[in-house]
Amino acid sequence: MNDRRRSLQWLLGLSALPLIYAGVTRATTPAAPPLRKTKAQWAALLPASAYQVLFEEGTERAGTSPLNAEKRDGTFACAACNLPLFDSAAKYESGTGWPSFWQALPGAVATRTDFKLIFPRTEYHCSRCGGHQGHIFDDGPQPTGKRYCNNGVALQFVPRGQPLPELRT
Ligand SMILES: [Zn+2]
Repeated sequence: MNDRRRSLQWLLGLSALPLIYAGVTRATTPAAPPLRKTKAQWAALLPASAYQVLFEEGTERAGTSPLNAEKRDGTFACAACNLPLFDSAAKYESGTGWPSFWQALPGAVATRTDFKLIFPRTEYHCSRCGGHQGHIFDDGPQPTGKRYCNNGVALQFVPRGQPLPELRT
């Protein structure tokens, strides 16, 4: 291979990189820029029940979410900022009365420890807007053994084949 051809291939490879990167970020959802709003702004945008859970760390009553019975293929996105958080492939019936997943989409949620019930629990929230989603427990099914116990009101379901909502700005 002569040098000219080699450098041409190198340039082509370089120009393809951003395209590949864009494809990956769309599929796996990390790297969306953070969305910062005040509680007052969120309260004006969201139904009261969703606001209470997402930004006042409320917990919906068990068994009240229609998403408990949602069995279709699709994506579960943050009800506040629309970031995709879970795929239906990781949803399972935990019997708790809350929508449960054994895995979040890569980079979709962040965690911290809370002590609201005295003993420590792992709280998790949307990595983009910070909206509270639920808690992670270690009694989930394989392959992760994790149970993401999610408030249904903090999620919205998008059936496979329908466009995902635009990220809220
Ligand atoms: Zn969010």
